[in-house]
Parts: sequence; structure tokens; C-alpha cells
Amino acid sequence: MTLEPPPLLDSLELDQFAPGVVHRLRLCLSHNALGREFAAPVLIFRAAEPGPVVGITSAIHGNELNGIPTIHRLFDKTGAVHNLTRGCVVAVPILNTPGYLRFQREFHDGRDLNRIMPGRADGNSAEVYAHRILELLVRHFDYLIDLHTASFGRVNTLYVRADMNSEAESGMARAVRPQIIVNNDAGDGTLRGAASRAGVPSITIEIGDPQRIQPGLIRASRLGVQEVLEHVGLLPDIDDPDPRATTECSRSFWLFTDTGGILEVFPPLNARVKKGEIVATITDPWGRVVARYPSPIDGIVVGKSTNPAAHTGARIIHLGVVSRTSDG
Ligand SMILES: [Zn+2]
Repeated sequence: MTLEPPPLLDSLELDQFAPGVVHRLRLCLSHNALGREFAAPVLIFRAAEPGPVVGITSAIHGNELNGIPTIHRLFDKTGAVHNLTRGCVVAVPILNTPGYLRFQREFHDGRDLNRIMPGRADGNSAEVYAHRILELLVRHFDYLIDLHTASFGRVNTLYVRADMNSEAESGMARAVRPQIIVNNDAGDGTLRGAASRAGVPSITIEIGDPQRIQPGLIRASRLGVQEVLEHVGLLPDIDDPDPRATTECSRSFWLFTDTGGILEVFPPLNARVKKGEIVATITDPWGRVVARYPSPIDGIVVGKSTNPAAHTGARIIHLGVVSRTSDG
């Protein structure tokens, strides 16, 4: 079965989309060397009542895919957007289409779109694309939820990155009820940071592992996004039947290896570790342990490496400094 491709647009005028139905379209963000469009898939649902516009973006890193079904399920026949009482949801399941086609994190030119925001109108290929993401999409948003996963060779808990000193962003982060919230002033160059600086409160949800579809985490992230839509007033407030416990971290950091070899990381995701506890070892090719890594803090495991082949300076484990816990 071949379905007609949705209409191709150069810009969005949200008022022109009729309320109460799902709109599917392609938004042209730039052109390739054959003159064909790099067009991002977009889904839009408007309520009859005006209200905030919530943007949901996914796969700005082209191999981070759990956000795609998270968005699809929000928009399917029984999806939550059909219950919208006010406002509008604009979702982009695949923001970095060239990277997605190559199974890679970066844009087609090897640049990381989530490190060069806000881009430049007259810059190189990736910079122009980044600029147009902000101009053609984010400019319409009142809130942004950007969906990611761990990078290649790593795994993550379901965790949210947000500036917890911002009332709007901490409220969105807590609404998601993830396993972990990491307080993090959005770095220069990220979509979350650029949107935030443009006055659009933004959070990042990290959903599991790269280049995979993980149904349990997708369900949890979909429910989390719905809770944010309730929190900002687009959906009626319904009690979460299945509240999850969240651990909040004031900061987080990675441990890195100081030699090369075969890396083994011991604690599971979301586990508490004690200061001094050995969290990883490096073994040489003859089976001799050449390095042991103690945890420098009492903390929690946000993410970790799953790639045993470790050069000097390889990532080991992502640890959070716990500031607050809730039992859901
Ligand atoms: Zn990412």
C-alpha cells in the first residue's frame, strides 16, 4: 500500500489548520544537491479553544528513535491529542531527516545540530538548517519538549534534563514523572537552550537507547508528555493511575577511563551507589585487571556505557548528585 505523501509547505500558519482533526504535512527546511527538499514530517492538532502551543520534537539526533512512536501514539485514533480542550500541539517525529537516513546522530555534513543552535541564516549547511528549525517551528511554540535517547554505546534511564531554577521548566520536568530529573542549565548550542533563551520554556526527555524502539519506555514517555500537556492546561487534569517515583539531581557528571582496555560497568541503571564503591574495571586483553574505578560520590546511575572496547578517555558511567526524591 502506498499512501499519498502529505502536502509540502514552506512555512506554518497555525490559524489555517482546522480544529479537531489531525493534520499531517511535510515542512521544507532546506534542499539537497539534487534540488529536492529536506522536509521534516509534522503532525498538528488544534483545539477549538485558543491556548498555548506545545511543540514536541524528536530525532534531532538522527539515531535517537524512541521519540518517534511516542509522538505517533499521541496522535493515533485513540491518542491523547483528540482530548485537547484548548491550544495546539505541533509535533515533529524526525527533525534531522538526513541523519535518520544514515542511522547517525549528526546531520549529513557530520555536524551535530544540537550543538550549533541557533544556527545562522547565512551559515553552512547544518547552520542554515538549525536556524530554520527555530524560525519555521520553534517560533510558533509556547513550550517545547525535545525527545532524545542515549548515544551509541550507552544506555540511559528515562530521565529529564531541565533548568530546575526556572519555575516553568521545573514544573514541566516534574509533570513528566521520569525516573530521574537532572538539573542542567541548557548548554550553548542545544535546541533546548536556544528555545529557552528565546522565551520558550523547554525540557529534554531522554528515552532509553539509540536506534531502538523500546515499548515500555515509550509508554512511560507518552504518559509523561500527556502529563505536561495537562500541566500547561491543554488537556483536562486526570489523576495518573500509575505514578512513578522520581529522583531529582542537583547536577550530574560522567566518569572517564584513564587507560584503555575492556570496560565492564557494574551497577544497573537507576541504582544508588556509595562513595568508594567500585563501579567499573578495565581488563587488558590477557584478562588482567589494570584499573578499578570507585564512585567519587554517594549518587545515582543516570546512564552508563555498554561498549566494552574502551580507549583512554572513554565514558564509564553518568552519575547524579541526589537532591530530592518523591514517591510518586
Ligand atoms: Zn540526543
